[in-house]
Amino acid sequence: MSHKAGFVSIIGKPNAGKSTLMNALIGEKLSIITPKAQTTRHRIMGIISGEDFQVVFNDTPGIIEPQYGLHKSMMKFVDESLESSDVIVLIVEVAEKELPEEVTKRLQNVKVPLILALNKVDVLKQEEVEEKINYWRDKFKFTSIVPLSALNKFNTKQLMEEIKALLPESPAYYPKEQLTDKPERFFAAEMIREKIFFRYKKEIPYSTEVIIEEFKEEGDLLRIHAVIMVERDSQKGILIGEKGVALKNTGMAARKELENFFGHKVFLKMFVKVKEKWRDNKSMLKELGYDD
Ligand code: GDP
Ligand code: MG
Repeated sequence: MSHKAGFVSIIGKPNAGKSTLMNALIGEKLSIITPKAQTTRHRIMGIISGEDFQVVFNDTPGIIEPQYGLHKSMMKFVDESLESSDVIVLIVEVAEKELPEEVTKRLQNVKVPLILALNKVDVLKQEEVEEKINYWRDKFKFTSIVPLSALNKFNTKQLMEEIKALLPESPAYYPKEQLTDKPERFFAAEMIREKIFFRYKKEIPYSTEVIIEEFKEEGDLLRIHAVIMVERDSQKGILIGEKGVALKNTGMAARKELENFFGHKVFLKMFVKVKEKWRDNKSMLKELGYDD
């Protein structure tokens, strides 16, 4: 029997729906999703396997012009993912008219099939969708254009079929039951970060990093200790809130999510620490897994 396998990068601007799309394609919520830009900071692998195929997706950070050391590292994750792809899925929101320079410059060197996923068609009428497809067809040489709604899982199956058809003949790269390449604690930290992105405003989510200091099964219980790192004392105050209420509520929301994901009762303890300018601190970033 023939077997197809390959690496597929999902790239695009912040908020285009990359994480929503990867989760829809693999049928698991691996990547965190928030209405804010730059939620995804790492390359997040999501693997889906069948009897005769394996697709290794990479959800990537939204492409931006870097302003911090953190951003540089995020863009490096994008470029590394692109270099190792067999197929690239560029996701663009239907409202979009132009590709930003930071995106086009990356597409210039692409030598593998490039699919345009025209996302969020749920906000358009059918005839408007046709218009958009024609617009993008003239604009750039895509292997194919798939209009879809990652949120409603509309046409995501069709995208999956397109991808499979473009994959090279190859044995599987990972064991067929494997879903991702990052350890459980990584996903625990991501889920806590997701709740922070939802619950705090302005620069707070962007100044925050979550470190899991303890992750231990104790009988029926999963014990998780997390440090929330911020850049300033004032941010620490906001994060904790009056009488600790804000942090407590964030913790409750995170615990629910963690219990769903791990299928275990969770005991979650969170501490807030100030680490000035961690987003530009080379050794800090390295420690946090952002640099080589
Ligand atoms: P990313 O930054 O590209 O990873 O984008 P996310 O997957 O985090 O999604 C950003 C926002 O767009 C979230 O609020 C999603 O719920 C929303 N979104 C994603 N896909 C769709 C879609 O197909 N339709 C609509 N209306 N919203 C979507
Ligand atoms: Mg994302």
